[in-house]
Formats: sequence, structure tokens, C-alpha cells
Amino acid sequence: MIERLCVKIPDYPEPGVLFRDLTPLFGDGPGFNRTVQALAEAFEGQFDCVAGVEARGFLLAGGIAHAAGCGVLPIRKEGKLPRETYRQPYQLEYGTATLEVHTDALPRGTRVLVVDDLLATGGTLEASGHLLHQAGLHIAGFGLVMELTDLRGRAKLGGHRVRALYRL
Ligand code: 5GP
Repeated sequence: MIERLCVKIPDYPEPGVLFRDLTPLFGDGPGFNRTVQALAEAFEGQFDCVAGVEARGFLLAGGIAHAAGCGVLPIRKEGKLPRETYRQPYQLEYGTATLEVHTDALPRGTRVLVVDDLLATGGTLEASGHLLHQAGLHIAGFGLVMELTDLRGRAKLGGHRVRALYRL
């Protein structure tokens, strides 16, 4: 189902990149429901809160948190959060970006499941993990819809549990 509802876009966002667009999966009722349920079940009983990485991770985090009866933590791009934040710069293919969380978002030691739509080089989730560490939070694991295994992003995630629903 994930493969069927993923559209491959050549040369996006730049020439030579094959972008996997998962918005058709998110827009499909049974597809989104099964995706959210599968990620919630993979980490059942292991998390107290779900962190979503801006922006597609927010959609998943909301659904998983609702299924599990817990709250959400937004991991946002620089400059979007209104109060004091921890900041984590990271490398993009061209240039750098920064992610942030509120310093007082959750009690220290809270078990947080981090979710995003796709794992590529791993830089985004690695930075997210560093942010949670700064905030004194426990990383319950990383949940993805899709993983591009050739890019070896998993190796950057420090031995934490990683569950990708579809690996290619
Ligand atoms: P990484 O940091 O692992 O190299 O890239 C993952 C981040 O970039 C995720 O936040 C993901 O949403 C986005 N991303 C990179 N490539 C793709 C892609 O082909 N499809 C989608 N949907 N997102 C991508």
C-alpha cells in the first residue's frame, strides 16, 4: 500500500534527485490509518509522547499520538517557536539548517518517539535526537514510513531503535 500510494518525482527539488512524495498515502483514509496504527503498534508501551519533525512529521505525530492517547512535541525549523529553545544545526546536501524545541517542552526523562515521513541520509533525525538529548528527554526510537537504505541514514542514529514501514 505504501509503495502504491507513493509518487516518484524525478528532478525534485533539484536535478538528479528522485523525490518520494507520500502525500497520496496521507490523503488516503485506509492508507493513513494503517500507517499510523503500524507505527503506534511498533513502539506500543515504549513512549509517553510523539515528536514530529516539521512539517510532514507533524501529520504522523498527531495521528500516532491520538491512537496512543498521548501528546505531541513539535520539532520545528528555526525561528518558529515563540519561547526559549534548544537549537541544533545540521548539514543539508547544500548548506545547513537548524531545528529547535522548547527548553521546557516536557519533563526530563519523558520517553519520546520521534517520527518523520522518510529517512534518507539521517541528518534530520540525528539532529532531532541531539535536541531531545539537550532537553533531557529519553529517545524511545525513530519511526518512519519509508527508508532509503542505500543512504545509510540508520548508522547516524546511535543504536536507537529504528522502524521503517517500507525500506528500499
Ligand atoms: P535526511 O536528513 O535523512 O537526509 O532527509 C530526510 C528529511 O528530508 C525528512 O524530513 C524528509 O521529509 C525529507 N526528505 C528527503 N528526501 C525525501 C524524499 O524523497 N521524499 C520525502 N517525502 N521526503 C524527503
